[in-house]
Amino acid sequence: MNKKIKLPSFLFFDGAMGTELQRRGLPLGKPPEILNIENPSLVEEVHRDYINSGAMVIETNTFGGNRLRLRKSGLEDKIKEINQKGVEIALKASRGKVLVAGSVGPLGELIEPLGNLTEEEAEKIFSEQIELLVNSGVDFILIETMISLNEALIALRSAKKFHILVGVTMSFEWTERGGRTPFGYEVESSIKKLEKAGADFVGANCGKGFEDMLKIAPLVRKSTNLPVLIQPNAGLPKWENGQLIYPENPENFKKFVEEMIKLNINYIGGCCGTTPKHIEVFKEFNK
Ligand SMILES: [Zn+2]
Repeated sequence: MNKKIKLPSFLFFDGAMGTELQRRGLPLGKPPEILNIENPSLVEEVHRDYINSGAMVIETNTFGGNRLRLRKSGLEDKIKEINQKGVEIALKASRGKVLVAGSVGPLGELIEPLGNLTEEEAEKIFSEQIELLVNSGVDFILIETMISLNEALIALRSAKKFHILVGVTMSFEWTERGGRTPFGYEVESSIKKLEKAGADFVGANCGKGFEDMLKIAPLVRKSTNLPVLIQPNAGLPKWENGQLIYPENPENFKKFVEEMIKLNINYIGGCCGTTPKHIEVFKEFNK
């Protein structure tokens, strides 16, 4: 099923999936992806809430759905089902009215020379998951929360084999030396290399919160002519009465979105800690 859609120049994405499932009862430490099998209606409910809040793109609940990550929770033999069901649930929730992005996160292990995983192995593992997502009918692939540029490039290369539209977003933090991933990759050169390697859009997601992202997003914007996706965390969570609470509220998110629109950011959504209440502010913007 080879297809490459063309995205509009402006889109609102959805908010977090993992932390939202936790808010709705998924125990911490349990992989969110298992719910595609164990409780698909809960996953569908989150998708539907985001769509009702104004999201034009929803992301499949497959962020950790690669073989290596699933192996850590003893779910390796369910890789096919987890990814196929993840797409099926999102397509059902979309009712053909919003786009479905196939979410692909990091492998969770270091690639040589930093770790033992070879580049060939890494490409094979990414390709396996991406092929499942593509064949199940996602509109495009979103590689996200990458902190290693090398890993991001391998994931991108894996996805491009399937002739589908691919976006790549990395997770940067603001440091004394500017925007960097926790591995030290800086914003401008990372974004330029992703563009050169054939990403269809690029951007930043996750990280420490709105404040950091307000400094990082302009750097991403000026590094590329490609469409840019920005999806910040709702700040860093704190424990309150046995629950993880994210500090940034929907009102703050609205101000954040205003700034992103001023910067000509094409695609805006939310990462960890954002909820349908955050995404609902999209309704106040007529684009
Ligand atoms: Zn996140």
